[in-house]
Amino acid sequence: MRRVFSGARPTGRQHLGNYLGALQNWITLQDQYHCVYCIVDIHALTTLTETDKLQDNIREMLLDWLAVGLDPQKSILFIQSHVPEVMELHTLLSMVTPLSWLLRVPTFKEKARIQPQNVNYGLVGYPVLMTADIVLYKAEVVPVGEDQLPHLELAREITRRFNNFFGNTFPEPEAKLTPFPMVLGLDGKEKMSKQLGNHIELALSDEETEKKVMTAVTDPARRYRRDPGHPEVCNVYRLHGFFNLNNLDDIAIQCRQAAIGCVECKKILVNSINNTLQPFREQRAIIATKPEYIIDVINDGAKRARIIARETLSEVKQKMKLV
Ligand code: SF4
Repeated sequence: MRRVFSGARPTGRQHLGNYLGALQNWITLQDQYHCVYCIVDIHALTTLTETDKLQDNIREMLLDWLAVGLDPQKSILFIQSHVPEVMELHTLLSMVTPLSWLLRVPTFKEKARIQPQNVNYGLVGYPVLMTADIVLYKAEVVPVGEDQLPHLELAREITRRFNNFFGNTFPEPEAKLTPFPMVLGLDGKEKMSKQLGNHIELALSDEETEKKVMTAVTDPARRYRRDPGHPEVCNVYRLHGFFNLNNLDDIAIQCRQAAIGCVECKKILVNSINNTLQPFREQRAIIATKPEYIIDVINDGAKRARIIARETLSEVKQKMKLV
């Protein structure tokens, strides 16, 4: 089977955007590829100055990953810093990466603008570490959203450059565009994100989910219950598209005819979200009572990842005449 690599920052409890935009796809890929899924805690340090919550975030995230269906029997699930070979490879790859390539990366410029007090070396070297993450496992496929394509292209350029200098070593990782579109947050404007506070966590209770959904922005032109709505501009309607596919046409007709109010429409959405997530929430509660199981999963993941990582690193050092 071809190998897939994907990673995510330790942001703690996962939200609907993470689930619909990435995790659902990762779960499907487990049956078609040899998947390596990583919580990239070192990457998080490029923007984090306080690390007090780092371990809690990792634990909460892993709980969600396992409960949602990432299967440690099928995939390697591990934490980036538990495989220190990635840092060594990062240093070696940095020797073939022109600084000008890194300085022109739009996300670097954006991060430097957002945190001018902390424009650290890790921030500019981020794409090199990301390349090391992927090629350390000789991954051929990387599931990405359209917005991440430029990052992967840079990883491919760094890979090509290394292969040109030192001989064919790594496969050039290909993008596998995720079939799931970007999920907008409750504000209906920005991508769902924890930082923006426009998210709905998967692990919320039914009541908490209802409270959140009730705050969602709908069609701004529909000011009164009697006003006909425009589902095509309403984010609640978009969310129905994920959780209530069978009733989508009915909801659109009723909205346009003002036969349904936004509160009622949101309540239908709340029920669908809660019904869909009920098995996940039950599973999460069970796994949460077994902290030793989570530790076993990440230790085993790191062990399996390191076997591949050591082999790759040894080949790289030989190619670079470091051995
Ligand atoms: S009825 Fe539903 S789809 Fe129509 S505007 Fe209100 S929330 Fe959106």
